[in-house]
Amino acid sequence: MRDKIVAGNWKMNNDLAQTEDLLSNIKKSYKKDQDVRVIVAPSFTNLHHAFESLRDSSIDVAAQNMNENSDGAYTGEVSASMLTSIGVKTVILGHSERRAIFKETDALLAKKVDAALENDMEVIFCCGEELNERKAEKHFDVVKSQLEKGIFHVSEGQWNKIVIAYEPVWAIGTGETASPEQAQEMHAFIRKTIAEKFGSELANNVAILYGGSVKPGNAQEIFAKEDVDGGLIGGASLKAEDFLAIVEAF
Ligand code: 13P
Repeated sequence: MRDKIVAGNWKMNNDLAQTEDLLSNIKKSYKKDQDVRVIVAPSFTNLHHAFESLRDSSIDVAAQNMNENSDGAYTGEVSASMLTSIGVKTVILGHSERRAIFKETDALLAKKVDAALENDMEVIFCCGEELNERKAEKHFDVVKSQLEKGIFHVSEGQWNKIVIAYEPVWAIGTGETASPEQAQEMHAFIRKTIAEKFGSELANNVAILYGGSVKPGNAQEIFAKEDVDGGLIGGASLKAEDFLAIVEAF
């Protein structure tokens, strides 16, 4: 049985006071469901606080990014060992905002994946096509290429540390979600692509999350699809009530 996961990507939102508020609201109302793993990803400055605040809960904390180098003269960057030293053992890599705005390439992401795994971290690896690519019916090719270049170099034994998040760029922050059928179609394709390279037993154990305008009102029908193992939630993860309603949608 693969994990069911709901992860909140807070992006560049919430200062310390807002982080304290949101965490305390989440903790107050969260009823642990043995079945669903819950993760929150605050900004770097709030990771330490979030980890300490959630220490006695079953909610995990993830970083939204990290540098591929272990240390050195990289002003403004944060390394894997800095994250693990404050207890953070999961990192989101390859988010479309990192790819598009900060020009992170597949080759760079492959290095970040390696750095995370060398530090025994779990990776939530994002992939997904842009609108023009879907219109041109290139979405399967784009996602396959992102997987092949960014994550398929990982050895079989390390795949227990990999979660895939499919986030069609046209559905992020736009209010437009992929239909449950579109999500299922791509998730099944991703699983098949992993199976072709690593075998179906391994592929069946990889959690594949959907991200892009997931809300309390649409989570249930998306999560009901066979190959959708949860969600990576942006906007709706900033309100405890909405985020927990999505967690409960499983
Ligand atoms: P929204 O849920 O705001 O569309 O963002 C999705 C996302 O990018 C999560 O990483």
